[in-house]
Amino acid sequence: MSMDEEKCDLCGKADEGVPEVWTTEDGEPVVIQNSVEASAVACTSRGELQICLECYTNRMGFESFTPGDLAAIHFQFGLEFLHRGEINRAKHCFEQSLEFKENSGAIAGIGCCYEEEGDAATAKMLWRKALDLDPECLTAQLNLQRFEEP
Ligand SMILES: [Zn+2]
Repeated sequence: MSMDEEKCDLCGKADEGVPEVWTTEDGEPVVIQNSVEASAVACTSRGELQICLECYTNRMGFESFTPGDLAAIHFQFGLEFLHRGEINRAKHCFEQSLEFKENSGAIAGIGCCYEEEGDAATAKMLWRKALDLDPECLTAQLNLQRFEEP
């Protein structure tokens, strides 16, 4: 993440956040900047791009991306939704990523979705599959480690 203003590289819209005013116990007002929308930063053939949810949903300019770029974009939104606890959306993004390019990150990500849903057996199977594809896949390595006997 850069320290620059959060701005979508496709439509130029800034994610300003929604300011919300809270009051402390002492009665002091505090403004909290809520991050509004999901957005993701993906490494593409055009460089690192920040993409807002609206552009992602509308597939803004997606026809000019390479399949590898699209795999990266869908993957990053998968992570974003996973982070936000929107498991079904996350899984859908990871599956779309895999349609463009087989990649260990998206397979491992789907594993994380299954774990969130309480299906550890399928999760472990997917993390092993991700490692078969890429022995360096850190997500798969770290998650499998958690299940190993001490
Ligand atoms: Zn946008």
